[in-house]
Amino acid sequence: MPELPEVEVVRAGLARHVARRTVTSVEVLDPRPLRRQDGGVQAFVDQLTGRTLTAVVRRGKFLWLPLDDGRALSAHLGMSGQLLVRGTAPAADSGPVHERVSGAALRTDPNALTGGRSVDLSVTEQPRYVRDLSTSPRHLRVRLHLSTYPGTDGGGGAVPDPGLDDGAVLDLVDQRMLGGLHVVDLVPTADGAPGGMGSPEPLLPADATHIARDLLDPALKRTGPDGVVSKVRASQRAIKTLLLDQGLVSGVGNIYADEGLWEAGVHGLRPGTALGPRVVARILETTAEVMRRALQAGGTSFDALYVDVEGASGFFARELRAYGRQGQDCRRCGTGMLREVLGGRSHTYCPRCQTRPRRSR
Ligand SMILES: [Zn+2]
Repeated sequence: MPELPEVEVVRAGLARHVARRTVTSVEVLDPRPLRRQDGGVQAFVDQLTGRTLTAVVRRGKFLWLPLDDGRALSAHLGMSGQLLVRGTAPAADSGPVHERVSGAALRTDPNALTGGRSVDLSVTEQPRYVRDLSTSPRHLRVRLHLSTYPGTDGGGGAVPDPGLDDGAVLDLVDQRMLGGLHVVDLVPTADGAPGGMGSPEPLLPADATHIARDLLDPALKRTGPDGVVSKVRASQRAIKTLLLDQGLVSGVGNIYADEGLWEAGVHGLRPGTALGPRVVARILETTAEVMRRALQAGGTSFDALYVDVEGASGFFARELRAYGRQGQDCRRCGTGMLREVLGGRSHTYCPRCQTRPRRSR
């Protein structure tokens, strides 16, 4: 599953390329990604057509694009979802330009757009290189046609890309149908702080109110009676399970939980009640720091995500110290890394740096 840094790379890319554009038409090639939409396909098309995407916001792994009518387009990428932004300018000798039909849901030839410039905002289970974008349209599910930018000084900070300034499409490409899109109401945040990264508005989707703030959110309460540290220390559950609980702190998945626990030198099985406040604070900080490093690497390589039909692009190569390193030497002490199953998920750790508690429960 994509975790916070991967979703943030997608958010930043969308903010740069689609924020402030208006949805001129919507094509639904497959209704299944709209399964969470109240009212089904027609409601999705009706509620999006003519609306402007005002921003791109993320809380944890949760992504939404506020619309100019107070609602939002919510995007779930699941394990295999990709969002692709493609310019609609035809290449020198490409095929016909895609026909635009306002407000209509219709099937068209997805290959008609391969001449334009493309930006791949893929999120995949593992970092990989996309060598051949022409294979992607096979799994194209939903396509949003977007207007040109209303102006170059909209104040949103987005810099129009010269190759995409005549309009673009935003594609949801999904091989395994685990991702989805839907239009949802926005509701006020309980604490009055911004809903997430990417917008100062204190709003979040009505179906995301159970998602806690993430470790990189300045409005996250770490200390104090209702802070994350206190909640962890009040729980009998294993610290790794607590880190993965999106209602306690969001954005952390299996990879960054293992990395953060290795950095902090704490075994994932330790119950919250067995950890002192400073240890819990350290685990939260090391986990946040690993995600910040991953994000930096992702951000740095983001411009490399500009690809043409022959081009390759990819995510940063993660420098993992724990996740997936079972059987290899600990990068701190040289001891062989072990792996066990904890709460249904794998946990990779160093038996010397991360002392395992005696009893598993
Ligand atoms: Zn070690």
